[in-house]
Amino acid sequence: MRIDLHTHSSASDGTESPADLVAAARDAGLDVVAIADHDTTAGWDDAARAGERLGVEVVPAVEISTTYRGADVHLLALWPDRDDPELQSMLAAIRDGREHRVPRMLDGLARHGIHLTMQDVQRAAGPAASLGRPHLADALIAAGVVGSREEAFARWLGEGRPGHVSKPAPPLARAIAVVHEAGGVAVLAHPWGRGSRKVLEEADLAALAAAGLDGLEVDHVDHDPDDRTRLRRIAGTLGLIVTGASDYHGAGKAGVGLGMNLTDPAAYTALRARSRLAG
Ligand code: AMP
Ligand code: ZN
Ligand code: FE
Ligand code: FE
Repeated sequence: MRIDLHTHSSASDGTESPADLVAAARDAGLDVVAIADHDTTAGWDDAARAGERLGVEVVPAVEISTTYRGADVHLLALWPDRDDPELQSMLAAIRDGREHRVPRMLDGLARHGIHLTMQDVQRAAGPAASLGRPHLADALIAAGVVGSREEAFARWLGEGRPGHVSKPAPPLARAIAVVHEAGGVAVLAHPWGRGSRKVLEEADLAALAAAGLDGLEVDHVDHDPDDRTRLRRIAGTLGLIVTGASDYHGAGKAGVGLGMNLTDPAAYTALRARSRLAG
């Protein structure tokens, strides 16, 4: 069983449609793939249909933007009930904040002589239900300002750069509670990745485990072998389920392929058992 529990489609900042994402998962030899777009469930139906057609099990998921001790922390919600009103209103508020920060990011770029409009960003975002910096990056590429998303982040959009504006997001503890209330399973995405590494120390992870967190995404491209060893040990101590995933973004994330990191089948079974809908 090859299980990849964190990927993105064009419903957020991935470059492939949900159906194409699932086809790519099949081509990569995956048995299970989670579609986990940022702050939206908009890709679920198309992905589910493709999964049925192609014989790939599609896990409905969402990567929720949250804040913890002033830092951006991403929470993976697996199998939450999409019809849960609390969940949907939380996601809608985050998407609203994402949209409203775009003009301020454009102002930051304009102060440096780069003039893009909201329309340019919308064009780059295409069908996305959730607007993000990668779409500004794509607009910068289309305008010939940079050659890649990576360069756009390094020069213009990364933290501390002229086009960066942080987005409002709910506290991590609230997001975990909402996911559970919606019957979902809560896994901390790339805990020691960019952004969250500074704030998520072992004591924090212990407190989150006590608050009901279900799992830790240990095998992720942002974690080096030493991080993985340490996170695995912490997860073992705290009784957190270990996951692994590619965090695939299609052509939007260089060097990351589907199935690059995988979740152990036993861990997958344990996650399923904790969800109201799948378990
Ligand atoms: P946002 O959610 O709008 O703040 O944008 C963050 C997203 O941008 C992340 O989820 C990644 O997909 C992407 N990202 C972050 N840093 C980089 C980078 N250095 N190069 C390319 N993409 C990045
Ligand atoms: Zn992303
Ligand atoms: Fe993330
Ligand atoms: Fe992600």
